[in-house]
Amino acid sequence: MTSRNKTPLLSLPIEALPGQGYRQRQLAEWLYGKGARQWEAMTDLPKGWRAELAEQYRLGEFAQVQAFPSRDGSVKYLYTLLDGQRTEAVYMPYPNRKTLCISSMVGCPAGCTFCATGRMGFGRNLTTAEILDQVLFVAYHQGHAPREIRNLVLMGMGEPLLNVDNVFAALERMLHPQGLALSPRRVTLSTVGIPRGIYRLAESGLGVRLALSLHAPDDETRQKIIPTAHRYSLAEIMEAVRHYYAQTKRRVTLEYTLLKGLNDHEWQARALAQHFKGLSVHVNLIPWNPWEGAPHQGSPRAQVLRFAALLEQQGIPTSVRWSRGRDVGAACGQLALAQPGGATAVGRG
Ligand code: SAH
Ligand code: SF4
Repeated sequence: MTSRNKTPLLSLPIEALPGQGYRQRQLAEWLYGKGARQWEAMTDLPKGWRAELAEQYRLGEFAQVQAFPSRDGSVKYLYTLLDGQRTEAVYMPYPNRKTLCISSMVGCPAGCTFCATGRMGFGRNLTTAEILDQVLFVAYHQGHAPREIRNLVLMGMGEPLLNVDNVFAALERMLHPQGLALSPRRVTLSTVGIPRGIYRLAESGLGVRLALSLHAPDDETRQKIIPTAHRYSLAEIMEAVRHYYAQTKRRVTLEYTLLKGLNDHEWQARALAQHFKGLSVHVNLIPWNPWEGAPHQGSPRAQVLRFAALLEQQGIPTSVRWSRGRDVGAACGQLALAQPGGATAVGRG
């Protein structure tokens, strides 16, 4: 059988991995604990069993992977999937933690005007195995055991709450103690605001953090830059967010990309503060990352700081996210850009 016709081993829930008892635990440990990407590496499994497994299952989800190291230490990974489509992840090492930003789709159907992925349009949903393997491949390439990656954000390509089944299945394996054993407090799912998806997340029991891409405190401005805002009003989205908070007691992050003359007015900072007073939120201001042909300009740095100060003055905890990896197109919303030079092909997945 060719690799494409085999069952991805990562698509199976941990309890449903082949083998039983001790053998099954050994296999899970090779996959998620040691990050083995070849059957031959699993030296303490009986040879005959390994051969049987190799016949039926595949380990890697990528035909090719390229890595683009940024000057600031982050690395963008460009994955060519087995059907030739492409998606991306960004690895960001900090002195005290290793963070990974992964994708949920090829492209994105939401079409936000300020986002390069939105401009590219929708390719397809990623499978559970493709979502998970982004993490395993980065760990392997960086020489880490997979569980050394302690922070994960679903902020790459795509809208995770429009691919709920596969995203939740991948999260379940990431949080599982025999899987990647990630703490749910260190996993953040970022959404453009799909109410039914937010309800499902609240009910799922996964307990991961929620980040809402707000970008404007009023429907009118939101609709100018986020096409899906025509379908879901802020009131509906906020009702879902309140439900999420009531279920999980997790503080919600509001992401706000500052676009010059569009959503960076003083009245909008005041309206935002008014809206969210008393709710447990934290605002993450994102200076807009440019891409060629974009119909926007970012707010000047002084305006970013001013907007932050206004929110703080009104009691809204605020931070500014100066993006990493801008030089290799790895910053927020720059994925899907033409690839810069300096790539290293790091082989087949
Ligand atoms: N689809 C999800 C997750 C992926 S986008 C969402 O929209 O939340 C992750 C974050 O990057 C979002 O907050 C998005 O608004 C932001 N973003 C998109 N394009 C950007 C750009 N060019 N500059 C800065 N942030 C951007
Ligand atoms: Fe999709 Fe998020 Fe980009 Fe909007 S910002 S187009 S939802 S990836």
